[in-house]
Amino acid sequence: MLNIILMGPPGAGKGTQAVKLERAFKLPHISTGDMFREEISSGSELGNQVKAIIEKGDLVPDELTVAIVKARLSKDDCAAGYILDGFPRTIPQAEALEKMGEEIGRKVGLVINISAPDEELVRRIGGRRVCPKCGASYNVVSMKPRKEGICDRCGSPLIQRKDDNEASFKVRLANYYKSTAPLLSFYKGKGLLHDFDGMVGSDKLFEELRTLLNVSE
Ligand code: ADP
Ligand code: ZN
Repeated sequence: MLNIILMGPPGAGKGTQAVKLERAFKLPHISTGDMFREEISSGSELGNQVKAIIEKGDLVPDELTVAIVKARLSKDDCAAGYILDGFPRTIPQAEALEKMGEEIGRKVGLVINISAPDEELVRRIGGRRVCPKCGASYNVVSMKPRKEGICDRCGSPLIQRKDDNEASFKVRLANYYKSTAPLLSFYKGKGLLHDFDGMVGSDKLFEELRTLLNVSE
């Protein structure tokens, strides 16, 4: 059973790897960022509650975030494993995940941490374009789609996220160091942490992750 968390600062490449892993290992890709963005575009009450927070780059309150993850992880398609991307992002979220993992029998088995230097993260976020439909991520400089502005995977028009601007990015990075980075020692202490260099290129990184998961499966 592959119960995986992907960790790393914004722009490290979590989403890109999650999409590849989802396909290769047939595991559901659970991105809290994507889930919130769907709520926003559907105009739901939750979406309206979190819209301004997300656009600024701030973190959504733990209770709201934990509730959507718990509902999602409880679904049948997570029985054989899951890829959590963007959750947990705070110590209380990690503690809630421990608790729900026990309750529903879906405990975290592996934490993959992808790192990259801040200057690189800023560059990547500035050029990032995403597919609002399937969640695939591209970069106008370094990871172009085959056809400009169109998703390779599903053919939808690509967009630039509202929080992929310099001001929001600064807030996201500061939140990462303050609230999320402490989780690395939390998971290291549990013997679950595996570190990867996000600078090696997305294909090479994927091969490294595939090797790790093949031996863990
Ligand atoms: P990135 O990893 O590129 O910063 P995500 O798509 O994972 O972006 O998340 C986008 C935004 O959604 C975050 O900046 C935050 O506002 C909100 N969000 C996503 N996951 C969480 C979480 N676990 N806790 C709180 N807020 C979250
Ligand atoms: Zn797409």
